[in-house]
Amino acid sequence: MKKGIALAVVMGMLLCGCAGNAQNSLPDSQESVVSKEESKLPEPESRDVFAMDTYMVLKAYGKNADKALEEADKEIQRLESIFSVNIEDSDIAKINANSGNPVTVNASTRAAINKAIEVGDMTEGALDITVYPIVREWGFTTGDADNEPYYKIPDDSLLEWHLGNVGYDKILVNGSIVTVPTDYEIDLGSVAKGYASDAARQILLEHGITSALLDLGGNVMTIGKKPDGTKWSVGIKNPVATDQLLCSLEVQDKAVITSGNYERFFEQDGKKYWHIIDPKTGYPADNGIISATVVGDEGLTCDALSTALFVMGTEKAVKFCKEHKEIDAVLVTKDMKVYVTDGLKNGIAMQDGLSYELIKR
Ligand code: AMP
Ligand code: MG
Repeated sequence: MKKGIALAVVMGMLLCGCAGNAQNSLPDSQESVVSKEESKLPEPESRDVFAMDTYMVLKAYGKNADKALEEADKEIQRLESIFSVNIEDSDIAKINANSGNPVTVNASTRAAINKAIEVGDMTEGALDITVYPIVREWGFTTGDADNEPYYKIPDDSLLEWHLGNVGYDKILVNGSIVTVPTDYEIDLGSVAKGYASDAARQILLEHGITSALLDLGGNVMTIGKKPDGTKWSVGIKNPVATDQLLCSLEVQDKAVITSGNYERFFEQDGKKYWHIIDPKTGYPADNGIISATVVGDEGLTCDALSTALFVMGTEKAVKFCKEHKEIDAVLVTKDMKVYVTDGLKNGIAMQDGLSYELIKR
């Protein structure tokens, strides 16, 4: 096994998905794949966090690392308590329970909603946080790990009714006051972990941390490089064989965020239905892409865009990447064609036997 891939496997194992993919998060599997050179690295401070329906692993080096990770953990829990659709007095639950009326929200909620609206505009509504009632009809709700999933294909008439109450452009944000139209409901599942990764990074930086890897359930944030001066190697799962990697990416000071059709799904009559919904149809977005990874400076933007590129489908997503040099992306199509933007060319190691087409800008 090539060294790059060996390291990537370590990171890939850390890239646990949501609760349904927890077996990929087993940390003891690291030892068997860790290279000799890697094992010479000092032990980082490490903290396991369960929040936002996801196992997260936060690792940081440096003398304040322990304290910094504790603070980051607290902040992630705070964000969950204001973002979750299932926590009764969260900002989002209040907005949903009071549709048609103004609700005062925290600054973090306002920032996340504003970004979701901005990315909705940038992607012709591919990202639409008002799609929540439809997500719920399918049973793909977030943050309710205690309950068994109740996945089902909703009736067309029900979907049609809900589609009449979808439209992110109807959300009003006036300072800290948010109003959604009557019968509208929102959820921040598409952006919450990205936002949390930015907030956690900020806390670590304030504690003087210069080297860290924050894995928020497949939403990765990196600070600086590893203590040995090499870049972080972040593995991206192969969407059709999630115990294997598609590739690894060498990065520093970047967020690496993936939306994949393997994260939350069910199968009925031989067909797979997943958690990312096309706001135009009310059905799982099935426009050619099965995994979209976005690499960039801000976790929030990368999270919003990874969901949006997934929904947009191959043609539109490739075009979007051509026009947006500020981000990089790895897109995987249903027929396992892989598109990679040019900014990742020097830092990508594909798994043996896989290749990609370059998106030049
Ligand atoms: P992600 O894993 O970041 O791609 O986000 C997926 C989550 O976002 C889903 O579990 C839903 O809660 C929500 N969601 C699904 N489809 C959309 C969409 N088209 N726009 C915004 N949020 C969505
Ligand atoms: Mg997302």
